[in-house]
Amino acid sequence: MTNYICTTCGTQFAATDEAPERCPICEDERQYVGWQGQQWTTLEKLQRDYHNVIKTVESNLTGIGTHPAFAIGQRALLVQTPQGNILWDCISLLDEPTIAVVKALGGVSAMAISHPHYYSSMIEWSRVFDAPIYLHADERQWVMRPDPAIEFWEGETRALGEGVTLIRCGGHFAGGQVLHWTAGAGSRGALLSGDILQVVQDRRYVSFMYSYPNLIPLPAAAVRRIAAAVEPYPFDRIYGAWWDKVVQAEAKAAVARSAARYIAALEG
Ligand SMILES: [Zn+2]
Ligand SMILES: [Zn+2]
Repeated sequence: MTNYICTTCGTQFAATDEAPERCPICEDERQYVGWQGQQWTTLEKLQRDYHNVIKTVESNLTGIGTHPAFAIGQRALLVQTPQGNILWDCISLLDEPTIAVVKALGGVSAMAISHPHYYSSMIEWSRVFDAPIYLHADERQWVMRPDPAIEFWEGETRALGEGVTLIRCGGHFAGGQVLHWTAGAGSRGALLSGDILQVVQDRRYVSFMYSYPNLIPLPAAAVRRIAAAVEPYPFDRIYGAWWDKVVQAEAKAAVARSAARYIAALEG
């Protein structure tokens, strides 16, 4: 039995004898099936062909991303807090060098993932570090490898300890969540947003889409809801899903002007 990994979205599936026929995450209109048709790999193959790059991005925040890029290419973030480390978002490759570095940084006491495109090999990470995974209950149907380590939470916010809060924003996915970290950006606050709020190329704005690869926008009401969900929290910086997709400063104003610009475009 093998836990196959979809090469287009990076999701690891429950163990099967043969590779699954389809990937429901890629067949959903928010993703796409690879142009060569559905293809699969395994963690063992990834361990041979790829490695992880691990870099400090600010004090108490470490990025972990795979090189060369695999699947969607996101990097995870390890948030170090006095009460334990939280792994935000996840990647498909976990290997011995990565485990050693993360253990040296204090391990992982909890995991949380913005939305199903980054569920990747979350169960592998959870088992190695003995960490529960906090997912919003609205995403149950997108879990391809069910496991008792997954804690589905309901409602609009969930504290993961002092100064770390999950906020359900919805939008791209109904249970799409972001992580607010009070101590981030020199205690001005940081938002770890995955692509629920997507940091765009000029890095002074974010965007909000139902599908990024297929360019399907969200309705104005959903954009207003996302902006309102993060509004009560102080934050100066936004870390998007890729290494350099960061709004470095005045991020709260960036969210407000981004939502206004987007809604103005929709409404003509
Ligand atoms: Zn897939
Ligand atoms: Zn996505």
